[in-house]
Amino acid sequence: MNRSSMAASNGDPRDGAADVLACLRGHERFVMCAHEKPDGDVLGSGYALGLALKSLGKRVAYFLDDDIPKNLRFLPEWRHSQRTFDGIDGDALFIFFDMSDQSRAGHALQWVPKERIVNIDHHLGNKHFGRWNYVNETEAATGSLVLGLILSLGAPVTTDIATCLLATLISDTGCFQYSNASPHTMRLGAALIEAGADKDLITEQLYYTRTFAGQKVLGRALEAAQLTDDGICYSVVTQSMLDEFGATHEDLEDVVGALRVVEQCEVAALFKEAEDGIFRLSMRSRGRFNVMEVARALGGGGHFRAAGATVPGPRDAAIAKVLNAIRVEMANEARAAY
Ligand code: 5GP
Ligand code: MN
Repeated sequence: MNRSSMAASNGDPRDGAADVLACLRGHERFVMCAHEKPDGDVLGSGYALGLALKSLGKRVAYFLDDDIPKNLRFLPEWRHSQRTFDGIDGDALFIFFDMSDQSRAGHALQWVPKERIVNIDHHLGNKHFGRWNYVNETEAATGSLVLGLILSLGAPVTTDIATCLLATLISDTGCFQYSNASPHTMRLGAALIEAGADKDLITEQLYYTRTFAGQKVLGRALEAAQLTDDGICYSVVTQSMLDEFGATHEDLEDVVGALRVVEQCEVAALFKEAEDGIFRLSMRSRGRFNVMEVARALGGGGHFRAAGATVPGPRDAAIAKVLNAIRVEMANEARAAY
């Protein structure tokens, strides 16, 4: 694979790629850290860079303060993810992938000081919480940045690495359907397939394998959906709906997307009740409206078209708070456009 044509970074030193590269070259022990509710981008990025660093003789561990979703248990290395710090050396550096701030990594990683953090991410508004930060918001997935690093390190892109990295792209582009799937992203995907990535396995696992319980809850959530006159399509999934079918939050991946496709919908919002009565909010935009700004106002974050936050209950208060935040941002954007 050719470094110059496949580089995620355009070489601008301000994005931090060169700093992170020097850091990876100059240290020997690393812990790859994923965010809670891990997805294909965060896990694929960590496993790919971990495999590459190991091939260069470095020591690598994978840390995750959560379970690995069933449909990602095909990624090479997934069995090596650990939830404790057993066997992790005192001088290891912690590489945080795909997170705009450290809190996304969950409680177990909050003690890690800035001096030991490498931050590799593509979210808007990344807080540069590491001593080394490589942030490029124009890339569709964190995995694109990781591919550039691996090529610069001179490590071979094995079939396992290619599968991990293609999973990051397929995960964050909706199988190359979203607007972030640029010609550049498609070229990276093609190169990874040429390098032996198992595209069919990835798409089958990420998009065409669902639990029966999850499909039943999707039906319930669509039945309960509301559409407002100003183009907000929202629904709520309660704990009792999940309990009725034996489903979990992991089974709700498709629900917010199914709200977004409604023709009058500008913004889709899904409220997922957690066990402690608070709500996890997922938002999607059709493209005219920046849901990341709404998420930020609610203490969360994300991308222009996909963002999330945590909102306190009870349910009606959570809905009122979020609809209000969306409308405030709609008014701001209308004013800015005027
Ligand atoms: P999802 O709706 O799929 O959970 O998340 C959509 C996007 O928003 C993802 O890129 C995710 O990283 C981001 N996101 C979701 N929830 C939060 C949150 O509570 N805080 C931040 N900073 N980002 C979030
Ligand atoms: Mn991502």
